[in-house]
Amino acid sequence: MRLTTLGTQGWIPTVERETTCFAVDEGRLLFIFDAGTGLGRLLRPPASQLLAGAHEIHLFLTHYHLDHVCGLAYLPAIFAGRTLTVHVPDASLNGVDPQRGVPELIRKPYNPHAWNEQPGLVLQTLHEGVNEVAGHEVRLRAQCHPDTTVAYRLDDLLVLATDTVADPQTASFARGVEVLLHESWIDGIEEDDPDSEELVRTTYLAHSSARQAAALAAQAGVGELVLMHLNPLRGEEYYAQMQASAREIFAPTFVYPDLHERALGG
Ligand SMILES: [Zn+2]
Ligand SMILES: [Zn+2]
Repeated sequence: MRLTTLGTQGWIPTVERETTCFAVDEGRLLFIFDAGTGLGRLLRPPASQLLAGAHEIHLFLTHYHLDHVCGLAYLPAIFAGRTLTVHVPDASLNGVDPQRGVPELIRKPYNPHAWNEQPGLVLQTLHEGVNEVAGHEVRLRAQCHPDTTVAYRLDDLLVLATDTVADPQTASFARGVEVLLHESWIDGIEEDDPDSEELVRTTYLAHSSARQAAALAAQAGVGELVLMHLNPLRGEEYYAQMQASAREIFAPTFVYPDLHERALGG
């Protein structure tokens, strides 16, 4: 399989980076995690190739904060004439009844294309623990974030954990996977800066630092840590510093640009 970063930014897209969206494909099978603005990259080369080759497409949502679902407004442009299975956590995980809550995200008059006017959309509910999707094991667990989010594990290939505080249980959830995609909001310098005390305090309530993500990656024994959901109020130099902070704890840490490709599963 292959991982492609379609959106690596948190909250607000920038010229270089779209908000959260990751593709994992196996030629005819395409998995997409989160529907941030990065979903729009599927319309243009090089990411449009992922779509061209796909016969079966599954989209997995972590939570309903707008930076992770605004791509739902793009569905008629990207997936017209196709079947798209949208997987969401069941109500026991986040308190939202999917059959009511998900169509609400794109309902009129806030979006011109309502859910039930798009015949190709199939809504699937996933439960905590192991689910089987297209011959793969997809595991979910609730993560702590204002309005609960879930982390996804795909086979032994990858874990995606955003938006989340640094949760010690993420390490056992991600044990031994090839790639851990974990959010990162602050670098080590800011984390240690007494003048940034308030920022650090609020970050710990909803998000993670680069070093916290690295500690989890080390504990989990993953092959590689990818920092993502990057803070849009900072820039590339800062992200390089995040990578450096994390590498002090876990050497194989990377901040990739959008549209980076990486093989998964040998
Ligand atoms: Zn977010
Ligand atoms: Zn969020």
